[in-house]
Amino acid sequence: MLTEMSLESRVIDEIDRLKPDLIKQIQEMVRIPSENPPGDEVQVSEYLASALESLGFKVQLVESKPKRVNTLGVIEGTGKGGNLLWNGHMDTVPVGNLDNWTVEPFSGEVKEGRVYGRGSGDMKGAIVSAMIAAKALGNTGIELGGDLHLHGVADEEFFGRYGTKYLCEKGYVKGIDAAIVGEASTREGRVMARPAVRGRTLLKLHVKGISAHSSRPEHGVNAVLKMSKLLIAVNETEFSFPSHGLLPDPTIAPGTTIKGGTKDNIIPEDCEAICDVRTVPGMSPDKVLQDVEAILKKLHAEDPEMQATVTSPLSKPPSEIPITHSLYQSAADATQRVMGYKLEPLGASGSNDTSYLTNIAKIPAMAFGPGGGNAHAPDEWTDIETQLNFSKIYALMMMDICGVKQ
Ligand SMILES: [Zn+2]
Repeated sequence: MLTEMSLESRVIDEIDRLKPDLIKQIQEMVRIPSENPPGDEVQVSEYLASALESLGFKVQLVESKPKRVNTLGVIEGTGKGGNLLWNGHMDTVPVGNLDNWTVEPFSGEVKEGRVYGRGSGDMKGAIVSAMIAAKALGNTGIELGGDLHLHGVADEEFFGRYGTKYLCEKGYVKGIDAAIVGEASTREGRVMARPAVRGRTLLKLHVKGISAHSSRPEHGVNAVLKMSKLLIAVNETEFSFPSHGLLPDPTIAPGTTIKGGTKDNIIPEDCEAICDVRTVPGMSPDKVLQDVEAILKKLHAEDPEMQATVTSPLSKPPSEIPITHSLYQSAADATQRVMGYKLEPLGASGSNDTSYLTNIAKIPAMAFGPGGGNAHAPDEWTDIETQLNFSKIYALMMMDICGVKQ
């Protein structure tokens, strides 16, 4: 037991020593823009590939579509142990209106113990925390029993079609026993974990009208007007769902985008709108679609001129693991050792790539990571001490789940 303790403290000391590397690497990654949309991970994936190679990872670049690249690294285990995946996305949301930023979004400016910039907290910083953990294990001479995979993925900020979803569908995560998705899971600086996540289903509503000269609206059917009636009805939908306890109840945001009409003096014959539905475990995307189809049917019965259809162009199911699961327990144990307090689960309204890992690849996955400061907003930042703490926690989890070769 004594040697095990000293191994752990050697790793933790090594991570403290690597603090300047951690800061420098977060800055370097922030300085490589990878905004999505438009979506282009080429440069950042190459940066990550060479960083992983220098740590002894075997690296493969997986291009799922031109310019959409995933960086897959693995250090193969030397014996028996669990195969662990650490997953983090390399794309970021766009900078938005530059006037709202007080720092340069791609400078990686360091002040007040934080690194600032687009992607610092969501989630290039987390990727660096995982790399520093792997580096500290290597520098300490630790060889893991199971395989350690580190994936930098594309497209998380738009449904992961070219990132984690693609990797799960194409078999790139085969043989992995558990996955940490390094999405932010802190609250006011406290380390927490997100064992459950809501799903997301996009609905596309289409209303067909009849065009006419707009000086005689009675000769046509105004598709935009019908759509407004439909959106209000969808907004009032009451989904049946099992209450989750940790996650917020399902929500529906009708008309997050809307398109209709062709000219100011023509009654619009088409209108299309998107509704963003967030689901909880126990709800399926198909059931959401059926519920909305029932609304369309009802409205059509009341008003035969209401010609509407609904489809679901994109969806990701909700996901969860029980807190009794060994992955959560490993995180709890590492948090206790590093932070000195009990890990508690955090509910969140958003969604993330754990959905694909648990639902498609059947790999238990949990969101657990630093960052999150002003995510998706101007002056995004990440706290350096929290980054360093997560490096320590990740390192202990890698040792625990993969096992250490004696
Ligand atoms: Zn993210």
